[in-house]
Amino acid sequence: MLIANYGYKDGSGEYFIALDTAKCDGCGKCAEVCPASVLEVIPNDFDIDDGNIMSVQEEHRHKLKYSCAPCKKTGGDDDPPCVSACPTQAITHFLSTAKGQML
Ligand code: SF4
Ligand code: SF4
Repeated sequence: MLIANYGYKDGSGEYFIALDTAKCDGCGKCAEVCPASVLEVIPNDFDIDDGNIMSVQEEHRHKLKYSCAPCKKTGGDDDPPCVSACPTQAITHFLSTAKGQML
């Protein structure tokens, strides 16, 4: 298993989108449902024989806290659209504030 982490940690919390590259087949369903165009499908640099793979767009990598705010949890247990859309459970979010609140 190879995990690609996109994001950052600062004084207010941790904001990462992690991708299990072995599970991602580049289908693009996550990018299609993302309301903020955070995700994209690119050639798989982790395995040049293996087609495409999901990535987090460069301009969003240091502001996921804000870019993913439209999907923040409002008390329910629903996964963000990108996680729900992924048929292989390749995406994990680590969006937590310093106070322990999940976003
Ligand atoms: S949490 Fe929402 S905004 Fe963030 S990558 Fe997923 S679908 Fe896009
Ligand atoms: S929906 Fe899942 S398998 Fe498809 S591109 Fe996104 S992360 Fe990869």
